[in-house]
Amino acid sequence: MSRLEAPGTIRSHERELKKAGDPTAMGTHCELRGATRVYPGSAGRPALHALGPIDLELEAGRFYAVVGPSGCGKSTLLELLAGLASPSEGEVFINGQPIEGNVADGVGVVFQDDASFPWLTVWDNIAFGLRQKGVSENIISEKVKGATKLMGLNGFESAYPAQLSGGMRQRVCIARTLMMEPKLILLDEPFGALDQQTRLLMGDELLNLWRETGATVLLITHALDEAAMLADVVCVMSARPGVLLDVVETGWPRDRDSRIVSKPEFGAITSRLWSLLREESLNALDTKQRGS
Ligand code: ADP
Repeated sequence: MSRLEAPGTIRSHERELKKAGDPTAMGTHCELRGATRVYPGSAGRPALHALGPIDLELEAGRFYAVVGPSGCGKSTLLELLAGLASPSEGEVFINGQPIEGNVADGVGVVFQDDASFPWLTVWDNIAFGLRQKGVSENIISEKVKGATKLMGLNGFESAYPAQLSGGMRQRVCIARTLMMEPKLILLDEPFGALDQQTRLLMGDELLNLWRETGATVLLITHALDEAAMLADVVCVMSARPGVLLDVVETGWPRDRDSRIVSKPEFGAITSRLWSLLREESLNALDTKQRGS
């Protein structure tokens, strides 16, 4: 439940995992120290303090979810970890190195919007990143086959995105990210546009992917049940400027799937998250209605 442990703790944990041949040793270790993001004012608009300060450590190979009221800075947090933006104050470390606004190697990001290329087939969409890197077609072919199988897309390799359901298009985007073998997978509301049933099934696929790759995963979601079902650790954020209200360990085994939603512990975790967030969400709504 600690938000920040002594730096040595994680590294020794990783060494132990590597010794034991555990796949989670493949994941990335991340740390935010006092990370704050203020968007500068422009065109007569004042500066906006969106996030922080936040102290948070992501242990290699674990699954994290971030929940919080709309506009509390969740996407901003993801951008800091992805290296797409720099903190205004504080620092962000990936495997002990400050990232300083660069996208670190081995980071894969999946956004909510359907980011598939409509003019390319499923196969070419998934192969896109590796082709850009000049990887040989033999290797690409092998990897695309693996990714289509893992994401349940085999049989659809020559289809175009417009011929697929929203859930399948999102799987194409996840497969494309997966091809780059990320050790840190950052997902910003990836299932936001999908119906509840598809979300549950996509959640199962994401859990498989996490287990198979050993990556560290951070999922931003507005759905408390999704966070409670998928994550090892749920980070609960306050209304803007988002700071950590609590860090909730779910205690699920690594080998889990969407059937845990019928367990009594699942209901207990979800209601704990809601009791932490209810007042914050009302505050966020109130601020929005007042137009600030
Ligand atoms: P969330 O993902 O929790 O909904 P965001 O991180 O997207 O929140 O945004 C946090 C706050 O920062 C919001 O008030 C949003 O309007 C503001 N914001 C986000 N991006 C920018 C930007 N580029 N410039 C100015 N304000 C921004």
